[in-house]
Amino acid sequence: MTGYPSRIGFAEAGQIIRQVAGNRMLGPERIAVTRASGRVLVEDITASLPLPPFDNSRMDGFAFAHASLLPGEDTLLRLAGEQFAGRLQAMQVGAGECVRITTGAPLPAGTDTVAIKEDCTLHDGMVRVPAGLRPGADVRRAGEDVQAGARVLADGQVLTPARVSLAAGLGIASLAVAQRPTVAVFTTGDELVEPGLPLAPGQIYNSNRELLMGLLRAEGLEPTAWPTLPDDPERMSTALADAAAAFDVVITCGGVSAGEKDHLPALLAARGRIHFWRVRMRPGMPVLFGEMDRALFLCLPGNPVSSLATFLTLGRALLDGLQRRREPRPQWRAVLRAPWRKTHERLEFLRGWMESGDDGRLQVMPNAADASHQLRAVADSNALIVLPEGARDYSAGDVVDVIGC
Ligand code: AMP
Ligand code: MG
Repeated sequence: MTGYPSRIGFAEAGQIIRQVAGNRMLGPERIAVTRASGRVLVEDITASLPLPPFDNSRMDGFAFAHASLLPGEDTLLRLAGEQFAGRLQAMQVGAGECVRITTGAPLPAGTDTVAIKEDCTLHDGMVRVPAGLRPGADVRRAGEDVQAGARVLADGQVLTPARVSLAAGLGIASLAVAQRPTVAVFTTGDELVEPGLPLAPGQIYNSNRELLMGLLRAEGLEPTAWPTLPDDPERMSTALADAAAAFDVVITCGGVSAGEKDHLPALLAARGRIHFWRVRMRPGMPVLFGEMDRALFLCLPGNPVSSLATFLTLGRALLDGLQRRREPRPQWRAVLRAPWRKTHERLEFLRGWMESGDDGRLQVMPNAADASHQLRAVADSNALIVLPEGARDYSAGDVVDVIGC
């Protein structure tokens, strides 16, 4: 069980994951734009038409040639027709004439300016247009949002609803995206009982399964939860090998430390390969990254906060690498609201509450319950505070890195 990096730094762990995942990148698939939200784009998108596609009215009102207006005074224009949104009328608006127009309607030939309905009066077929309009007022020009030929979306971007909408606005019906990794989730431990069943002395409820399933679903995945595994090497081996043959990613929780019942490291070493075991982070130090058969394995420590912190950082790096996501996850800088004594050397993820202060700066209040079994502190938090390696006394007012949780 040697020959792999151990007790490595957090940054190195991330690099190994990105490198291994990058070599196993999932293939592309073409999906309908209606289902593309949340996926990672794997092509560049170039606009084949301008947006807006044609000059059109910004308001409901009247369209005319600016040259028809009298300088410095109101002008009476003859109402010559209507142009509503939807189909360009075959008409030529002459000098001294105007047409009724609605928002988004194309400007008929002979017009270049719009007066807002509320600013005009209509009497006997004549429209009084106010003085002072500049040429092109309330007209949206073709291409002023997107020019034809512009690259609007890039390979590796996450398809937010707005980006999908931009593609739809350009008439694109399907997009090439990275396939979603299939993920199997295993919780392990003789002490675990499913919620709803009675607890015998010494047992606890399985809380991490819902944690991990929820976190994976929040990534847009459809993870599969397997029945909880007992701390039995034979049964673990059989179940994990089954999953390893069928899934892209296997996430396990528990059984990865150095206790008598922690069978995963030996199992991975014997039946697969370990890429690293143990990272200088807290919580989450025993985390293991490896592979077996076709699956990459991320084995998270069982303490709930360890599972959360390792998934949010290393787990996401794995999913991003497999899907070729190039945009980094959001990270902020925030002002620490209370002092914190960091007495150990490892990189730390503290739980905390982040909000913007009256001065407009982000602030974060660390949660005093900092042990890795204290699930309640996670439930009460919206942020993980990242404190780099090294013991140090932090003061209120120090600026720290923060990620959302
Ligand atoms: P382990 O990593 O298996 O040594 O577990 C570390 C701690 O996390 C122990 O106190 C376990 O009881 C607890 N634990 C492990 N798995 C779970 C789980 N799925 N839900 C809640 N607690 C767990
Ligand atoms: Mg265990």
